[in-house]
Amino acid sequence: MLEEAKRMSSSSPAISSQLAHEALAAGIQKGQTAVIAAAQFILCTFNTSPSSIDSTLAYCHAAVEYFDKKKDLQKKGILYNSMGIHYDVKGEKEKAIQYFKEADREFKALSDDYWLGEMYNNWGVVYASENNSDKALALYMNALEYNRSLGNTRALMASHNNLGRLYYKKHLYEQALDHGLMCLSLAKIENNATWLPLALNLIGDIYAKTNKKEKAIANYESALAIAKTNYDDYNRIFTLNRLAKIYVENGDSKKALSYSQLSLDRAKMAGKRKDLEEIYLIIGQCKINLGFFKEAKPYIDTAYSLAQESSISAYVLQSYKLYGLLYAQREEYPIAISFMRRYEELGDTIRDLENAELLSRMEREFKSKQQEKQIFELREKAAEQNLLLVLAFGVFSVLTVLIAGLLTYFKKVRKLSNELEMKVEERTKALEKSNIQLERFAYIASHDLKTPLRTISSFLTLIKRKISVYQNPELEDLLDFASNGAKQMNNLIEDVLGFSKINTIEMKKETLDLNLTLRSVLYNIDDYLKEKGSNIVFSDLPIVEGNAGYLHQLFQNLIVNGIKYNEREKPQVDITFEEKDTLFLFSIKDNGIGIDLAYKEQIFEMFKRLHSTQKYEGTGIGLALCQKIIEQHGGEIWLEQSNENGSTFCFSLPKAI
Ligand code: ADP
Repeated sequence: MLEEAKRMSSSSPAISSQLAHEALAAGIQKGQTAVIAAAQFILCTFNTSPSSIDSTLAYCHAAVEYFDKKKDLQKKGILYNSMGIHYDVKGEKEKAIQYFKEADREFKALSDDYWLGEMYNNWGVVYASENNSDKALALYMNALEYNRSLGNTRALMASHNNLGRLYYKKHLYEQALDHGLMCLSLAKIENNATWLPLALNLIGDIYAKTNKKEKAIANYESALAIAKTNYDDYNRIFTLNRLAKIYVENGDSKKALSYSQLSLDRAKMAGKRKDLEEIYLIIGQCKINLGFFKEAKPYIDTAYSLAQESSISAYVLQSYKLYGLLYAQREEYPIAISFMRRYEELGDTIRDLENAELLSRMEREFKSKQQEKQIFELREKAAEQNLLLVLAFGVFSVLTVLIAGLLTYFKKVRKLSNELEMKVEERTKALEKSNIQLERFAYIASHDLKTPLRTISSFLTLIKRKISVYQNPELEDLLDFASNGAKQMNNLIEDVLGFSKINTIEMKKETLDLNLTLRSVLYNIDDYLKEKGSNIVFSDLPIVEGNAGYLHQLFQNLIVNGIKYNEREKPQVDITFEEKDTLFLFSIKDNGIGIDLAYKEQIFEMFKRLHSTQKYEGTGIGLALCQKIIEQHGGEIWLEQSNENGSTFCFSLPKAI
């Protein structure tokens, strides 16, 4: 069983490990220390599964003790070499180097070139993973020499692969590809399940870096297939991660996510600790790319804490980068930039131009966002202040405008009213002046007209008397006609004179008993009344304050009109009054011909007549005179009503003060 395990160790490590474990169990059961040590030796030498690293190391320590006792220096050296590998895998670099040095001493003492070649490869890996490429390169070159000279194909594959990896890390892709292809061809010849996927993955990585994505994917897919058939979880996970990475780079985050999820499942199933950081990082990256920022964070968190635990700075760096991206996506630029700064500081060897660009882009974006924010805040503040200012200014302006408007308005109104007052005053004065002048003129004119008219009338009477002897009726008619004209003219002059007198001669007011005034009127026109057979009715009239002559004239005009414009056999005029609070309201009602109400205003105008002089004698001044008298007494006059049964004139007189 042990032999079988030993034989299968390179072609099928998993089966080899299984067999060795079974042999170990059997040895323990049977208490066979040699079997136990031999099984432990196989498990230590050929099995590098990180899941069982502590137990493997325990086997190593136990086996070393056993072979030390047995003085088997080669096995001791081989076990030291294994311990170096396991401590390296465990991340305990110093311990690893310490055991490699032990192994180096043992092999050198034995001049065991084969194992020196094997061991230098493993030792070099410690430095390579610490980025001490010079030391790594020196050790790898040593290994290559030994392995080449001895024709140790298995170790040669390791040497080529290691050198390929180292050159790859140093971005020397041509050299890297040479070694990768050498490793691959050897692995193909050997059909080596360990080195085939490793070489394919290395070549895939080189193609991926040199932008030959399709070639890279093809190599990865081959590696994956081989790892799968060999139940090689290590390479399977590694390759799945590579494929996921390349799809991320290709922008196919969905595909990448499916590969990385597969990888994570496999890693969990295999209990593989190594590369978990990478898986979480890729998933985090995919989630960020797909916009699932919330989902991305726990993956990055896990990757970060795992990377810190294992002190793998490359993954810590990658975590910083993803944190940077994540916070940048969330527009939390200060945090994003702090992560990118850490990334930059830590990752000088890894950082490339793209990252520097990313950082500067982020900073630019942050600055512009910050500026935008500041500008926005300033604008908002300014807008607020502006709003207040605008409001204040608006209110102030409105008030100013209002006040100014009101002031101007008041000024204008005052100016206008002043102007108006002045104009009214001026015009009133002018009007008064012109009225006075007009009335004076009318008075003087009518007064002066009266003298020649009286002369004409006298001479006409004289002529009429002289020709009566000649018995010439035709001539007498002509003379009558001329006399009537003169009489009419006289009436007109009298009325105009009477009208103009009202203003020109100062109106004296006295307490008047209107009963007496009316009696005086009736006495005055008694002949006319009798001639017309008319009847004047009035009850007890009040005592008023007024001008006796004018009020006499007023009553006389109204009564005469009521009789004159009357076709009744017995014309009648009724004079009544009503006592109001402040005035007396008189009505003069007749049973005459009536007045068309369309003329109720016009009849009070000077010279306005509704009938010819032939039909009804008159001058058209009577009612105008009445209106003027009433106005002079502070009252009003109007035609109250009129129809074919007669008219009613009303006028008011303020009560005596
Ligand atoms: P007149 O000297 O013509 O009477 P008035 O000023 O007194 O002048 O009257 C103006 C006109 O009003 C008259 O010509 C007449 O047509 C009309 N009028 C005045 N009073 C009466 C009335 N009581 N009945 C009918 N018509 C009247």
